[in-house]
Amino acid sequence: MGSYDSVWFRCPVCTQRLELQSKSGSCNFQNYELWDVPPRISADLDRQEILCSCDAKIVLVQLTGKIILPMLTAAPPNEFGDLQEDEED
Ligand SMILES: [Zn+2]
Repeated sequence: MGSYDSVWFRCPVCTQRLELQSKSGSCNFQNYELWDVPPRISADLDRQEILCSCDAKIVLVQLTGKIILPMLTAAPPNEFGDLQEDEED
């Protein structure tokens, strides 16, 4: 009935707190941090993408057991600009 559990993590770019919701756990409106996610929920959130308000695109990748990592798949445009300037030097 529209209940879910929330997993909280920080954007790797701007460190804003972000939330992903899963219906695979107890769905008791539990809040989990990345290092404390039950295996059923981390498996459900594996490869889930979220877009931060800073335009960074983040995907959650399940490693082993309940370890899940936020990985950056697309940085904000100004971050890419900085990288390209470095390569031209
Ligand atoms: Zn961000």
